[in-house]
Amino acid sequence: MEETVRERLIKALLASSEPLTIYQLQALVETDLKPNELYDELEHVRKTLKRQGYRLDVVPATCKKCGYQFTDRERLKKPSRCPRCKSERIDPPRFYVKPLY
Ligand SMILES: [Zn+2]
Repeated sequence: MEETVRERLIKALLASSEPLTIYQLQALVETDLKPNELYDELEHVRKTLKRQGYRLDVVPATCKKCGYQFTDRERLKKPSRCPRCKSERIDPPRFYVKPLY
């Protein structure tokens, strides 16, 4: 049976030794979903991983211009603009998985 995108996302995250951006994940899971849709999938993946005893952790998005880090974001999605300098050049968040306990 064909694996779902969510299953492939989980496998890719578990197999990776380094944090991955949504763009790297998009390539790894070979999907037609757009980055915005994949961020939504990741929200589900986060819940699934939690049930399996893992935590989806985030290396925060960073403003390329002033270095501001988006550390307090509840959503996983890449922010569109920096609250400090208003730049729209944002390094996307990167995702990795680690055991809860
Ligand atoms: Zn900034």
